[in-house]
Amino acid sequence: MPKYKLVCFDVDGTLIDNVRFSWQVFHDYFQTDKHRREDAKNNFLKGKISYLQWAEHDINMWREKGAKKQDFLKALESLSLMDGAMETLQELKKNGLKLAIISGSLNVLLEKFIPDYNDIFDDVFLSKIYFDKEGNIEKIEATEYDMKKKAKALKLIAKREKIKLKECVFIGDYLNDIKILKIAGLGIAFNCKEDKVKKAADVVIEKKDLREVLGYILK
Ligand SMILES: [Mg+2]
Repeated sequence: MPKYKLVCFDVDGTLIDNVRFSWQVFHDYFQTDKHRREDAKNNFLKGKISYLQWAEHDINMWREKGAKKQDFLKALESLSLMDGAMETLQELKKNGLKLAIISGSLNVLLEKFIPDYNDIFDDVFLSKIYFDKEGNIEKIEATEYDMKKKAKALKLIAKREKIKLKECVFIGDYLNDIKILKIAGLGIAFNCKEDKVKKAADVVIEKKDLREVLGYILK
């Protein structure tokens, strides 16, 4: 029996390369008002609005710009799937491990780079934008499990699946991953430039190829 039963992935900078925050990629592309964005961010940081309200605020800024699905896909042209991502997911699945996404990213990225992500992953926590037939934003469903609450999402899955936290793996790259890296049985910092994040992890992988995680998870 493998030591670990569940492997959770971050998206921006982990499964997807050339991106730190996908939200920023879209703000840049749609040229949204920087001040309004900053105000909303500060209101969230001060606890005046919830993460959900912050996310909805920002997505509405794109809606105001008339953003269509094809624009979102175009904005992602400089991004790519992380090296070794598909091989890693397949190998973990082959070994009977459950897979999950716990991310503050957006479904549009996964639809572009891992179109069958809903079949591959047993659990998906991320923000979702739904488009109508003409490609206009129809509905949004923001996740609340970003930042410190990523850890809460892991606890939810573990409890439901009756898996111990020490049997869970999390792989991530940035400051919003610190808490979840600490509570997972195996925390892997990948493609990571932040010392604080590296310190919170059990393993730091420097080589930018996701297959590097397999040796630690399947040993
Ligand atoms: Mg990330």
